[in-house]
Amino acid sequence: MSAPGPALPPGAVIGIVGGGQLGRMSALAASRLGYRTNVLTDDADGPAAQVATAITLGVHSDADTLRRFADAVDVVTFEFENVSADGLDLLAAMRPVRPDGAILRISQDRLAEKRFLSGAGVPLAPWHPVDTLASLEEAAAVLGLPFVLKTTRLGYDGKGQRVLRDRDGLRAAFEALSPHPLVAEGFVDFACELSVMVARGLDGTVRCFDTVQNRHRHHILDLTLAPAPVPPEVASDAQALAARIAESLSLVGLLGVEMFLAPDGRLLVNEIAPRPHNSGHWTMDACPVSQFEMHVRAVAGLPLPPATRHSDAVMKNLVGPDDMALWPEILATPGLLPHHYGKNEARPGRKMGHVNRLFPRGALPGAFGIEAALGPLRTGAEDP
Ligand code: AMP
Repeated sequence: MSAPGPALPPGAVIGIVGGGQLGRMSALAASRLGYRTNVLTDDADGPAAQVATAITLGVHSDADTLRRFADAVDVVTFEFENVSADGLDLLAAMRPVRPDGAILRISQDRLAEKRFLSGAGVPLAPWHPVDTLASLEEAAAVLGLPFVLKTTRLGYDGKGQRVLRDRDGLRAAFEALSPHPLVAEGFVDFACELSVMVARGLDGTVRCFDTVQNRHRHHILDLTLAPAPVPPEVASDAQALAARIAESLSLVGLLGVEMFLAPDGRLLVNEIAPRPHNSGHWTMDACPVSQFEMHVRAVAGLPLPPATRHSDAVMKNLVGPDDMALWPEILATPGLLPHHYGKNEARPGRKMGHVNRLFPRGALPGAFGIEAALGPLRTGAEDP
């Protein structure tokens, strides 16, 4: 764990591992607070590289690149979680790494994550480690059908997982998913998916943004509703869970906590991500201090202001060529607040930007109102 130190002065350099949109929006927030940024990326024209003060061009698996990067920065953070354990150790030996590498290691591995969260008393869907076909059969017997089989590493946006509905499919799924080991989870027939962004500062201050509801389409986040239209006690329980996780991890930085609201009203944590998160993009327009500023403040050792929300909001992701074909209409629609990630090529399934739409507090509309408020954008049916 890096020792608490004084806040970074303006002009200091925040190193960001990863060159995507989360790095871009973090760099913009850092710049507003007077910091410089250096982004470690292999794409000199990627979303973060376009706005960073400087870049370290190279791959995060290369020790020399990591050394060059650490030499050029005052503190290291991440927008990309899959740095090797060796790479993390190398960085941590040279500069403070926030969040700490130990937290990244937990979030990189679903089994480590589940073991940690269970140990911290956080409610999860029932789960079973799977490293052999026999253990997969055991999982099917213990969890019942259907259940979800997931890779433990490198899974995102629904990649690296399958829902198993009958025993005949076990072998094929076991062989198709890699790398092993895998993890099997009970299928949660959830009422909705919720998430909370939580920040914790160097001084231990914990700030939770409001609990939001997330709706996916083709396994990719489509809409975030802020605040989540759930009873107030569910929203505050979700925040309390996120705060407990941040405390248990001794987090310094920002963490997204994804949860299921089960049909019986229980909250079950699905996964955690120790970085800014797509489900926190609404904060850029609906909060005086966005998730990105909160992230930068925590990483730089600055005080964390309350995570206040001045408006209700809907965030709609702009994915692939279909949504981007609407860009001119989006710009021409009053009330839509567009954010473009600067990616050149709108491939199907690629997150290209997002749009926020604000409403007065308490005036978040229902489904039809949201559809109308998003102008040319279509939210579509929810993905099964
Ligand atoms: P993940 O990669 O774990 O975030 O999962 C991607 C999506 O798959 C989630 O947002 C859920 O919609 C769905 N999902 C994941 N795990 C489960 C589960 N145990 N039961 C039901 N749906 C799940």
